[in-house]
Amino acid sequence: MKENYQIILNKTIENIKKDNAEPSLLLHSCCAPCSSYVLEYLSEYFNITIFYYNPNISPEEEFFKRVNEQKRLIKEMPLKHTVKFIEGTYEPNRFFELADGLEDIPEGGERCFKCYRLRLEETSKLAKENGFDYFTTTLSISPHKNAQVLNAIGAELSEKYGVNYLFSDFKKRNGYKRSCELSEIYGLYRQNYCGCVFSKAEAAKRV
Ligand code: SF4
Repeated sequence: MKENYQIILNKTIENIKKDNAEPSLLLHSCCAPCSSYVLEYLSEYFNITIFYYNPNISPEEEFFKRVNEQKRLIKEMPLKHTVKFIEGTYEPNRFFELADGLEDIPEGGERCFKCYRLRLEETSKLAKENGFDYFTTTLSISPHKNAQVLNAIGAELSEKYGVNYLFSDFKKRNGYKRSCELSEIYGLYRQNYCGCVFSKAEAAKRV
């Protein structure tokens, strides 16, 4: 049976409110549009640092275009707590190594699961090194991303590095719809492909 990770997130937030705590959260972000709803929602309860680590993105100009949109959004959104930003290193070879032999698998398959893991593992390590209370990712907001797999990877890394994973499925509560509205409000660049060259080719075929 599929777990409803929004119910788990609701309980976590209830506990945080009861404790009157404002825990720190290292939030992996894939792009400004996906992060918009998550920032609006979670900045009420957490001190957030965005970690932009996405070696999957090609070409390089696209990576920096998305970084700049992310930084602009953080500056322009009126949020309860100031959001900090950490730019991850652009190291596309790490992505191409994991995608070796999986190039022809359609989006949503094994290549994507490895891609989630690469980004989440880097986030969990950084969270551990810097003493964050929680880590998570914006990725589950996309209807194309598998929240069951993402949360399972999060649980495994939480165990490995000893940092809490913030279980979540941001496409619930109309999160995706709200991210589209916020993208309109802030005039955000919304790419038409997930990020890697393979997803770019898939998107081109759909046109
Ligand atoms: S389609 Fe997206 S999630 Fe899948 S491998 Fe490419 S960049 Fe990663």
